[in-house]
Amino acid sequence: MANNGILVVAVSSRGVLPPAAYELVTAGRALADALKQPLSAVVLSEKASALAPELAARGVPTVYAVESPALAGFLADVHAKAAAAAAEKTGAGTILVSGGVAGKELAARLAVGLKAGLATDVSEILPDGKVLRPIFSGNLVAEVEFKTPVRVLALAPMSFARAEKGGTPGKIEALAFAAPASRAKFVSFQPETSNEIDMGSAERIVSGGRGLGGPDGFKPVFELAHALGAAVGASRAAVDAGWIPYKHQVGLTGRSVRPKLYLAVGISGQIQHLAGMSSSGTIVAINTDKDCPMMQMANVSVQGDYAELVPAITAEIKTRRGASAAA
Ligand SMILES: Cc1cc2nc3c(=O)[nH]c(=O)nc-3n(C[C@H](O)[C@H](O)[C@H](O)COP(=O)(O)OP(=O)(O)OC[C@H]3O[C@@H](n4cnc5c(N)ncnc54)[C@H](O)[C@@H]3O)c2cc1C
Repeated sequence: MANNGILVVAVSSRGVLPPAAYELVTAGRALADALKQPLSAVVLSEKASALAPELAARGVPTVYAVESPALAGFLADVHAKAAAAAAEKTGAGTILVSGGVAGKELAARLAVGLKAGLATDVSEILPDGKVLRPIFSGNLVAEVEFKTPVRVLALAPMSFARAEKGGTPGKIEALAFAAPASRAKFVSFQPETSNEIDMGSAERIVSGGRGLGGPDGFKPVFELAHALGAAVGASRAAVDAGWIPYKHQVGLTGRSVRPKLYLAVGISGQIQHLAGMSSSGTIVAINTDKDCPMMQMANVSVQGDYAELVPAITAEIKTRRGASAAA
């Protein structure tokens, strides 16, 4: 029987489904509608039966719950076997995995196990099933066509909107899984202790680039971010210069983000930076060069020196907040 259907693989992280799982649902739904194929999902977790309703509530018709203590910590070989069990059960031809660091490892192992084609960093899925992915540092976009009956797609995080609850709720089925012995052992997870807002979940991001002139230039950027309740991002030039840690880097070799507001301060907008933030809702650029790509593509472009503009904007926000709090 020919492989048919779209399968979303949702991997829990410390007992919860990451937002990326809902991005897979959006992509899966669009492809299922375009190809007129059934959509299903599998939740891999030590709490799968408690999490599966989250996907069913987003209109996924069938959600399989693979629940096992062996899935509590991420072990690529064990998770790949569990995902393969769901792929075989559904006979899906297209399997969608979130393409973060762990997800890419899972996708690669799954593709090998299923003798499937694999594409990582997928930024777009075309209605005919071909996919787009950036190559050569984002300077070119490759269109990939598969010749294998089964294909595994690792989607670039933040490339698709997150599915909201709604639609006809799906049914949930438990899927038995005998966890294989792993060649690796999950030891522990050490969360980073920080009061900063994480870029991945931020609705607003203020990002700084080489135009800030040095590490001190990030002080007004952090102050503006604080006033806005925003996360702080950065261009690679600022990170490479050692002005701010790598975890803030936005772009092809940094994080992909999709906030409602992206404020780019002193960032020229080279293609590798745009690759990580061009799907943002409203883009505001502050730059001395009105002709740079960021100023050209922004929804709102403000020409001028950040050292004057950023503190002025922060002060204005604080004044308005104060006025509304006093009212
Ligand atoms: C393989 C590869 C991967 C890469 N990955 C990434 C990535 O993930 N993310 C990324 O960001 N880059 C990445 N890059 C680097 C990228 O090509 C650019 O070099 C980088 O994005 C430039 O950063 P920038 O815009 O801060 O600096 P610049 O391009 O130097 O721009 C600085 C801007 O600041 C403006 N400016 C100067 N003074 C002021 C002032 N006082 N007030 C306001 N504006 C001012 C200037 O007009 C200019 O537009 C990658 C490159 C390669 C080759």
